Amino acid sequence: TIKSTIKKALDKLGVKQLNNGTSTGSNSFGKGEIIQSYSPVDGELIGAVSTTTKEDYNKVLITAQKAFKTWRLKPAPQRGEIVRQFGNKLRELKQPLGELVSYEMGKSLQEGLGEVQEMIDICDFAVGLSRQLHGFTMHSERPGHRMYDQYHPLGIVGIISAFNFPVAVWAWNTALAWISGDVCIWKASEKAPLCSIACQNIITEVLKENNLPEGISNIINGNYIVGEFMTTDNRVQLISATGSIRMGKIVAKTVAERLGKSLLELGGNNAIIVTPDADLKMTVIGAVFGAVGTAGQRCTSTRRLIIHESMYDKVKDALVTAYKQLRIGNPLDENNHVGPLIDKDAVKMYEKALDKVIEEGGKIIVRGGVLSGKGYESGCYVKPAIAEAENHFEIVQHETFAPILYLLKYTGDVTNAIEIQNGVVQGLSSAIMTNNLREAEQFLSQAGSDCGIANVNIGTSGAEIGGAFGGEKETGGGRESGSDAWKIYMRRQTNTINYTTELPLAQGIKFDL
Ligand code: NAD
Repeated sequence: TIKSTIKKALDKLGVKQLNNGTSTGSNSFGKGEIIQSYSPVDGELIGAVSTTTKEDYNKVLITAQKAFKTWRLKPAPQRGEIVRQFGNKLRELKQPLGELVSYEMGKSLQEGLGEVQEMIDICDFAVGLSRQLHGFTMHSERPGHRMYDQYHPLGIVGIISAFNFPVAVWAWNTALAWISGDVCIWKASEKAPLCSIACQNIITEVLKENNLPEGISNIINGNYIVGEFMTTDNRVQLISATGSIRMGKIVAKTVAERLGKSLLELGGNNAIIVTPDADLKMTVIGAVFGAVGTAGQRCTSTRRLIIHESMYDKVKDALVTAYKQLRIGNPLDENNHVGPLIDKDAVKMYEKALDKVIEEGGKIIVRGGVLSGKGYESGCYVKPAIAEAENHFEIVQHETFAPILYLLKYTGDVTNAIEIQNGVVQGLSSAIMTNNLREAEQFLSQAGSDCGIANVNIGTSGAEIGGAFGGEKETGGGRESGSDAWKIYMRRQTNTINYTTELPLAQGIKFDL
């Protein structure tokens, strides 16, 4: 039944057995080698895409530059109208696209559908925003002068995305970039290339129906080398890259070398602080979902629980009981809580991390392991594990993209817990479970969490599109999605207009001729 469901989904999305991985809209090509996409769900081949050569890339770039010249002239609310139509197409295709996300990436179907819903939500947000790209006006120091600032389209936005959100990250960027008047070139993760084909097919139809030019939305496919075509290219004004810290450090340097702009969304090492005033039931739900949801492969997954000593045993026992109830298996089956990891390399990293935590003196309290046998043929299914550890362990400092949760104990005041929480190089998401107002406010204060996201009585995992999304420190500092994140997709200009017949200079400088 998986096969027939997926076959129908692929048909509806126009994804073929062999697809051109390079596309400027209706024009698709790609002369590079072929990437085959295997599902971590059952190990079956789903389809393949051709990768993008340097020559192909140059064609895409030139087409995008041309499209930008037309697209930027369209008034922003009219660009919003195109994004509205795109959102509506996504509503129609939510089910098949959610199924493809789930099957190609391995997250649960509900999460796959949730990811498509995020795409729809950001479209709605962008449509409203297209009438609100506000600048400021200010008073000039010179008589008869008017000053204001305004935002103009930036140019080409290069999007590099990770495997774990194979469609939403693209939409977070494109929806805002398009209403801003930019055109986009997307290099999807080489681990989920078919998702990029499906998305490009959807937007191509909308652009065609509106007689818009080729090149407003483009995809290229391949590994980091294809990503580097964009990061090294000064014709690409903004690089928005989502992925590991290792990748972000290289991309940041490459883009900075040419003084380009970058928006980086990198790894997290997210913690929940559990204080003596925490609600135990909420804590357990938040922690379990945060740690095992998407098999621990979210940038916002909960990796560390920092528990007050007075709560420690209670939380530990409740977690052990909860983990016994977890059902691991086919993510397209709603009865399962945990699906597979993305591939066997990820499984190896998970196994290594469990060895390492023991080596460093940690204690496993919920044993992990790789599953085999019926239903687990892909070799990518692992058991969520829990270990007692210490924050300074090298393995705890590192983001392992798998369902491993570390329990850390704190004593005394919440200040100590905040110090542990902040004592890692990453700074994406953080949370505190407490009914104590003083603790909550301290956590949110300037001396509190140093993360881009700080929650009270909610876990670390997931976020609403209305807020700016991103993190500090080695998470990269970028912000996407809601609030004023749109500003990075535009260039800012300050204008001064003199409506007198005199030319007074600023700061009262005299320049007599
Ligand atoms: P990855 O870094 O291996 O790859 C991400 C993307 O970068 C891929 O498309 C890859 O081809 C490309 N890439 C790699 N090296 C490059 C280079 N030198 N130049 C140009 N492109 C390059 O990451 P992954 O394994 O796909 O994803 C998991 C990571 O992503 C985790 O660390 C996770 O926390 C992070 N992530 C962060 C966010 C966020 O918003 N902060 C969201 C999702 C995932």
